[in-house]
Amino acid sequence: MIQHPNRLPGERIDFWASLPFVLVHFVPLLTILTGIGWHDWQMLLVTFFGRMFFITGGYHRYFAHKTYKTSRVFQFILALGGSTAVQKGALWWAGNHRLHHRFTDTVQDVHSPIKGVLYSHVGWILAPHADPTPTEAISDFTKYPELRFLNNHDFIGPWALAIGCYFWGGWSGLLVGFFLSTVMLWHATFLVNSMAHLVGTRRYATSDSSRNNAFVALLCMGEGWHNNHHHLQSSCRQGFKWWEIDVTYYILKFLSLFRIVWDIKRPNPTAKEAALIADGAYDIGMFRFHWDKATTRVASATQRDDLLEVRAEFSDLADRTLEAAERLGAQTRGAGRRERTETTV
Ligand SMILES: [Zn+2]
Ligand SMILES: [Zn+2]
Repeated sequence: MIQHPNRLPGERIDFWASLPFVLVHFVPLLTILTGIGWHDWQMLLVTFFGRMFFITGGYHRYFAHKTYKTSRVFQFILALGGSTAVQKGALWWAGNHRLHHRFTDTVQDVHSPIKGVLYSHVGWILAPHADPTPTEAISDFTKYPELRFLNNHDFIGPWALAIGCYFWGGWSGLLVGFFLSTVMLWHATFLVNSMAHLVGTRRYATSDSSRNNAFVALLCMGEGWHNNHHHLQSSCRQGFKWWEIDVTYYILKFLSLFRIVWDIKRPNPTAKEAALIADGAYDIGMFRFHWDKATTRVASATQRDDLLEVRAEFSDLADRTLEAAERLGAQTRGAGRRERTETTV
């Protein structure tokens, strides 16, 4: 099989190593034997949204982006809670996520849709390339031995929760409250990497393909306002308008009342009004994305490696030209705004 032109060596799905992950998807079918009760659905709600908070509020907004502060004890609780979601340890998750922001929609981005839609959704975690923890990207947290321990023993959280579900709800509780919930949680989280870079609206002209997607935002407790997030990564709040529901932020605000967390970062008002597409900011992210899609197809169809080099050279040149045009445009718009203000006053 031909390697996708945008994938690096090692970014190829390892079929045999992926088998346990694939098989887990079929485990909930065993409920044919046990039946499902009302209590099991209640467990599913608790384990789905409870663990989702640890991923969004813990792994993402705390470990990957440090958008608020907390104690070392609560930091440990966030890492332990997140590990029950079967998405590896906090250091692995947050380190890879930082790489996603550092290299968004380039070949170094671990899960960009430019490597294929299915690859960005799930394929990347099944490739040997993404297996090790990128410690250099998360060195500010690797100094904590308890976090290193949890990261190296990431089976403890899932096993503890699975056993807990069995004692709480019996076999059907284990199948629905743990296995079905885990599969749903995986794909909901993965939608942020796939769907929130492909479907939705763009408010800000970021240099990537991020979108605001209300469906993903509701399912993932606020994480679907992904274009807002790519624009202002340091902001804890990701829903910028009152109607952009951001449950993770509301929970963190609630926890701040008891000083469990503090120094929650809000979006900077100036930055919030910058690079708005509605103001005419040139959407370089979409240009890059569509340009890459078109040229990748040509290169793949012809299977000519020399076209890849020409494509990269032309892309760099086009990017530089557009960035210069965007700077010029921004200055012009700024001058226009000043003029308007002066005449009004
Ligand atoms: Zn992020
Ligand atoms: Zn993203």
